[in-house]
Amino acid sequence: MDPSVPHTEPVQLCPPGEPSRIAQRLKAVLETIEQTCQKVGRDPATVRLVVVTKSATLDQIRQVVELGQLDLGENHVQQLRRLWCQISEFWDEGRPDGIGQKIRWHMIGHLQRNKVRYLLPRITLIHSVDTLRLAECINNEAAKLGIKAKVLLQVNASEEPQKYGVPVAAATHLAELLMTLPNLQLKGLMTMAPLTLNKDLIHACFTRTRELFEEMRGEKIVGPDCTELSMGMSSDYPIAIEHGATIVRIGSAIFAG
Ligand SMILES: *Cc1c(COP(=O)(O)O)cnc(C)c1O
Repeated sequence: MDPSVPHTEPVQLCPPGEPSRIAQRLKAVLETIEQTCQKVGRDPATVRLVVVTKSATLDQIRQVVELGQLDLGENHVQQLRRLWCQISEFWDEGRPDGIGQKIRWHMIGHLQRNKVRYLLPRITLIHSVDTLRLAECINNEAAKLGIKAKVLLQVNASEEPQKYGVPVAAATHLAELLMTLPNLQLKGLMTMAPLTLNKDLIHACFTRTRELFEEMRGEKIVGPDCTELSMGMSSDYPIAIEHGATIVRIGSAIFAG
């Protein structure tokens, strides 16, 4: 027995009826989203949470889905396919309209062209299109399936050389080219802020992406359905919401610790 715990007080690690650690952390994230929206005068319904599962166990993923989170994001094709099989097996045995079918999967990581056909048609949104070659490949696979693939253009707004994403100066031209692909639907922009404690750099990255987005919309380079700004992760999502994020991608704030 642990001598530091007086044995007169029963130790309850997880008292029955208490929300789980995941539930508490998810609630804190949803509250932060709501409070940040209130602070900047936005409707919280305009910000969608994509729960990033890359650091989560299957059991943890089940918990967030059961708590009502149906948008899940992964950054590896293999892992995404493995998860969607496991998850639909878990919930949907003999239930074709089960909850597993309702999950919306987001591909948020770097995508290789030879993996595209494994991704469609189960994916809701591909956040990481950053070259014409990749876009053409997605367009071709979508054409074979007779669907329109929804994509975001990933912008390297922090201009870090090691990052994926199209440079800001080339983004408008690439968006124009994407608009010519009939089986692709350009739904918006995605960016990742630099990993830094310098808040000014984070603000600058989100500001630049927002300006690019407004410019593309204003000049009708993109269509009226190009409405999404996917930006903000565990360390910076309140800042991203201030700058107009419509999708935040959050993993460790929910699953770590
Ligand atoms: C991992 C990842 C996230 C989530 O990061 P956290 O810091 O765990 O919230 C978001 N977007 C992309 C592209 C990622 O790879």
